[in-house]
Amino acid sequence: MPRIQPTRPQMEILVWISIFLLLFCLSWRLHWHEGLDGFVERHHGYPLDHALLAISISGFLGLIYSALRIRDLSLEVSRRLQAEKNVDWIACHDTLTELPNRRFLDSVCAQAMIDQRSEETYAVFSIDLDGFKKVNDLLGRDHGDVVLKAVAQRLSALFPREHVFRLGADEFVVLARRMGNPDPAALGSRIVSVIGKSFTFNSVVVDLGASVGLALYPENGDDLGQVVRHSDCAMSVAKKQGRDLVMPFVPSMQEELAKRIRMEGDLRAAIRKADIVPYYQPLVDLKANKIIGFEALARWKTTSGEFIPPSEFIPVAEQAGLIVELTDQLLRCACTDALSWPNDLVLSFNLSPIQLSDPLLGLRILKILGDVGLPPYRVELEVTESAIIQDAVTARIVLDDLVNAGVRIALDDFGTGYSSLSQLSNYRFDKIKIDRSFVASFESNDKQDKVIKAIIALGAGLGVTITAEGIEEESQRQRLQDLGCDIGQGYLLGRPVPIEEITAGHVNTRILQRG
Ligand code: C2E
Ligand code: CA
Ligand code: CA
Repeated sequence: MPRIQPTRPQMEILVWISIFLLLFCLSWRLHWHEGLDGFVERHHGYPLDHALLAISISGFLGLIYSALRIRDLSLEVSRRLQAEKNVDWIACHDTLTELPNRRFLDSVCAQAMIDQRSEETYAVFSIDLDGFKKVNDLLGRDHGDVVLKAVAQRLSALFPREHVFRLGADEFVVLARRMGNPDPAALGSRIVSVIGKSFTFNSVVVDLGASVGLALYPENGDDLGQVVRHSDCAMSVAKKQGRDLVMPFVPSMQEELAKRIRMEGDLRAAIRKADIVPYYQPLVDLKANKIIGFEALARWKTTSGEFIPPSEFIPVAEQAGLIVELTDQLLRCACTDALSWPNDLVLSFNLSPIQLSDPLLGLRILKILGDVGLPPYRVELEVTESAIIQDAVTARIVLDDLVNAGVRIALDDFGTGYSSLSQLSNYRFDKIKIDRSFVASFESNDKQDKVIKAIIALGAGLGVTITAEGIEEESQRQRLQDLGCDIGQGYLLGRPVPIEEITAGHVNTRILQRG
């Protein structure tokens, strides 16, 4: 930090006093007063004594004025020093939590590089809160700020003698000296459990998780700054794998991260150029053998003509914060395509689990439908069980808004999640989609057959339509139809195709031929 050198008023006073004393001694030594007396006597006709008195008084007043000026100056300088100290503090600290910030961390790392002789070793923890966005969205920023302060206090209490930094919105770093902290992994687990304890404010209970990356200095890098970057990389991997994880850094993570960053860049460009488009797979009424609609499935064709599957790019879009933009673009495109279909065909559209924790999702979807002019009753949104379990409160608000507007909701991949029947009855689903893993094996596996039967019976009981996914064989189609399954989907009935093939009538013909 650059510092302005303080002036020293005391020094100035000393200089002036010294000059005065020197002149006084000189005048004494050289008998100036005798010369002055002689001068006054020689010119006694003039009022010289008055003039000398006036000079003495103004000199005295000048002295008082100077003393006051010097006092003001000294106050001004100390105020400036205090302001500089404040600016220094603000530049190196986060004003909300009062923890040191990234700039401070950079200077600590730079200092560690200069201080090469130091034998100090560190365990670096990069911490990212899980579920913090939800707090901000649902309870507002004020509550978010209170939560951040509480997290900062808990971390500072856990590491009273170590550096705890806040780097960004919900990102923290701890530089823990290893001397006296022999087991870094255990420390990481303590971070997770400290943050995992519920926070209660004004009777609102907030539960957060933490994804923690751990890297060691000097094992994971000669430069402390590099070790911090490595712990951040390990944290990204922990975040990807779920919440409440401590992930130690291993060198192969860097390649993974670089790959993901490359993919993120390509994905951003693909979204900008609208290179990701929906393909449509038919949903077939098994009894009437008739197409009742299409499921939109995202397809990304790269410039080299290769297709990247949605199972690869949707999670990247979620993590890179691109999912909202991508979904809006795909939905707008799919709704426009659906306008060209007969009026009784539905458009089924997948929502990613992360989106159901966005309270504005319903509004955005309804706005797109309104803009395009597709009536809500022609749209069905597919959500997975895990999406609902992740954030039940927001999911409920979002789904209620959509259902009230007339949009239908399908529970996708049924049987692969962990939802209980009571959870099922809490939401207003119009359709349950049996996961294709059951369909693939139910003919040879008696237990899977029983599960399918039970799901179909459940659907009948709840008044919910049942779709079976992944029908590849005629025998599967026949059996499902016999069991009373309403709708089928799978390669046998039609693969996902671009819109041009639907408008050219290819898909319709194929189904009718089979019937
Ligand atoms: P999903 O929603 O379960 O979609 C069905 C997946 O099964 C599709 O894979 C489809 O191509 C595939 N499939 C359909 N019939 C058969 C069959 O008979 N046999 C086999 N083996 N597979 C079949 P796809 O298109 O690769 O999509 C994978 C997943 O990616 C989807 O699973 C869905 O969860 C997600 N996804 C696709 N498009 C979107 C999208 O626009 N938004 C979001 N959020 N997720 C999407
Ligand atoms: Ca689906
Ligand atoms: Ca599915």
